[in-house]
Amino acid sequence: MSMPPPRPAAPLLAALTSLPALAGAPFDFDAAPGRLPKSVVPLDYSLAVVPHIEAGTIAGAESVRLRVRAPSRTIVFNSLNERLTDVRFDGAPASAVESDDARQLTTVTLAQAAGVGEHTLSFSYTGRLETQPHGLFLQTYVSSDGSHGQLLSTKMESTDARRMFPCWDEPAFRSTFELTVTVPAAWATVSNMPVARRELHGGEQTTTFERSPSMPSYLIELTAGDLAAIGSRVGATEVGIWAVRGRERDGEVALADARLILADYNEYFGYAFPLPKLDEIAIPGGFAGAMENWGAITYNDQLLLLGASSTLADRQTVFAIQAHEIAHQWNGDLVTMGWWDDLWLNESFAAWRGASETDRRNPAWKWWERQDAARESAMRSDSRLSTHPIQQPVADELQAANAFDEITYEKGQSVLRMLESYLGPEVFRDGVRRYVHARALSNATAADLWSALAAASGQDVGQVARDWTEQPGFPLVSVVASCARGARTITLAQRRFLLQAAGQDGGHWSIPLRIRAGGEAPRAQLLSRDGEQSAGGRCNEPLTVNADAIGFYRVRYDEATLAANTRAFGAMADGDRIALLDDSWALALAGQQSLGSYLTLASAMGKDRDSRAWEQIAASLGTLEHYARGSRGHAAFAAAARALVRPVADSLGWDPKPGETPDVARLRRTLHAELGAWDDRQVLAEARRRFARFVTDRSAIRPDDQETILALVMRSADAASFERLHAIARAETDETAQRRDYAALMQVGDPALAGQAARIALSEEIPPQADAIRLRLVVLLAGRHPELAWRTFRDHADALLAHNPKYAPLITAQRVPEYFWEGAPPEEIEAWVRARLPAEMAPNIARGMETAHALRAERAALAPAADAWAAQAPWHGGGGRW
Ligand SMILES: [Zn+2]
Repeated sequence: MSMPPPRPAAPLLAALTSLPALAGAPFDFDAAPGRLPKSVVPLDYSLAVVPHIEAGTIAGAESVRLRVRAPSRTIVFNSLNERLTDVRFDGAPASAVESDDARQLTTVTLAQAAGVGEHTLSFSYTGRLETQPHGLFLQTYVSSDGSHGQLLSTKMESTDARRMFPCWDEPAFRSTFELTVTVPAAWATVSNMPVARRELHGGEQTTTFERSPSMPSYLIELTAGDLAAIGSRVGATEVGIWAVRGRERDGEVALADARLILADYNEYFGYAFPLPKLDEIAIPGGFAGAMENWGAITYNDQLLLLGASSTLADRQTVFAIQAHEIAHQWNGDLVTMGWWDDLWLNESFAAWRGASETDRRNPAWKWWERQDAARESAMRSDSRLSTHPIQQPVADELQAANAFDEITYEKGQSVLRMLESYLGPEVFRDGVRRYVHARALSNATAADLWSALAAASGQDVGQVARDWTEQPGFPLVSVVASCARGARTITLAQRRFLLQAAGQDGGHWSIPLRIRAGGEAPRAQLLSRDGEQSAGGRCNEPLTVNADAIGFYRVRYDEATLAANTRAFGAMADGDRIALLDDSWALALAGQQSLGSYLTLASAMGKDRDSRAWEQIAASLGTLEHYARGSRGHAAFAAAARALVRPVADSLGWDPKPGETPDVARLRRTLHAELGAWDDRQVLAEARRRFARFVTDRSAIRPDDQETILALVMRSADAASFERLHAIARAETDETAQRRDYAALMQVGDPALAGQAARIALSEEIPPQADAIRLRLVVLLAGRHPELAWRTFRDHADALLAHNPKYAPLITAQRVPEYFWEGAPPEEIEAWVRARLPAEMAPNIARGMETAHALRAERAALAPAADAWAAQAPWHGGGGRW
């Protein structure tokens, strides 16, 4: 699945079973971890469900064809909040049935042991219709015309299919499914497979879908409601975009994207999409992100539909998230990880494939550059002692849910990209094709992927790859140059990079370096032992050993090489510069290089307009300015920061120029946002002028610019301006625009108005389908009012986390300390978090608290360094040595 888009900040229980680590072994059903016995396996389900909306219940009838592999008197499968009746085995009543909701298991005991061979288990059951997005849930929404609607949808991953029907709810238990549902006659129904037949009776319909191919239970999908679709055909596949009736035309762009992506992936994987149709369904509210159900992908509607008020960023999300979810149709759905410890095989792969496709089809978006911010965020987490390897043991439902983090997504994506670059894109693709063909309609482990890549490349890929997937953290490569007759030789070494706790190094990696000296093409070199030497071009040329910022490692250059790089900085390739800025900033945060080295590089950008590089600089200066608040040197620092970025901002102006690329427009907004944060009077005054026109004419500020300009206005807003925007937000019928308005209100500077903003975030003004944004609103409030935001979150945590039942523990353990570290002493936050979570969450809490403590230490160390820089720097000239 996909996490929500990562702006503004980086964005579950049962009994424990201990499991053997199976690193390095290919998939083997009997050896796959899990709680269910392997002696009885499902082959085919016939399932008929009748949701009773008023009562909040489900009535179901289920028949499962089974294979008994070893004689057994008991049959064990998953269930949760269900009561089974009339349980029969080959038509004969079972002698006992026991459902245990704590262990999420049902055990059926037979009168006598079932013999090896095929049998049928059948029963009726009652279950719960959920009101939060897990299992089969009811979603209430308000349409733009003010009318209220309801629909049913599902969200099963990781372990919630068992909330809709009793089943073998572990990924290795693939089976075919024939689903039947009874709902109001006027409703549309969508599932993994096309409709086979529909019977009307009274005001109801009973619809049966075609039998699915063999698949795991977590990919089952069912949506029913007042929906309409637009559609088109790609080869043999019908592609449809579904939305609440009246909004389906807002899926035109998504439909065009889906056609392109599906055709590209048919070619890339060398295996045609195997289902007769691919539907994509826009669910109002429902859940954050998207879910790759086979043949029926569900999305939060804000991520699939585009209206008149949508921005370019919204449009980019629509492409990128589809590229991710459609990649899962092969990697995840056609080939499924054997167990949740290999979740990264699904998620890292879809993240990498999706980003590659987005970049390939939209070169002007510079998509890999945009991924750099997410990679940096993952590197920050991964440079703490409490981080974990990409592959990690998963024992139960809670740990399966907790595996969905930035190490699985962003680090995994970066590691695959690094391997692709090292092996070459064609060889890598051939390996992926071998993997998909070998494991189609079945399961896989990491070892299956490595052996397919090894067969395609002739190299021991597993040996390199396992360094990155099976141990935590990543290396810092040190480069020491020596010169003889103008020719440079570099000596390379590595150790683990940690932001704090230097000295506890450990770890060793096979590192695929990409070395570029001067203007030459990058050259690959695998660094496997310390002291290796390599040619490094001419002594005065710039040099990078992480060309194009593809590697997941940091680099520290000796002083002479760093000086050569700084001199040539303005002329280096964009990716090389970004890698240098990222590494230099991280080394400054870790206290391993001076802040001055970083600021010298930043000032060497001159008037270059690469947006990611400037975004990195603006964010770093923004962090320093934030840390310096309240200190004597703050005003001087803010002035220095303004002087550094102002020439570029001035050259961009306020309005787009003809032929301007998207990243230039993005750069303009980034610089205006930061200049405003640093109290740039000119920027704040212009934002207020534009807002005055916007109040009477909504087209006065382009949708793309609204997020930035409205937030700038709120920084210094008085009660009248705040109330003007609040009235606009309340009256807005377009949800995309309304969400922007509310987000801006949270960034108000005045403390009394901030109290009002907090009350708005909790109020009934937010429509039911937008419940999921409340948490983001409170996090936005933390930027300027950390204590108020923490109190607001703490006192309403249940409501703010309710929409996200699966991730609530992970958010509580890891994100809450990171979001609210300035809002309360760390002991208070830790005590609060511990009181809400089971003991099993201790490693996650340790990660969250390490981040909170580290941020406090960072602020204490960097505030004086920023002061010192501002006090002595000849910043106004630019390019001075700091
Ligand atoms: Zn995914």
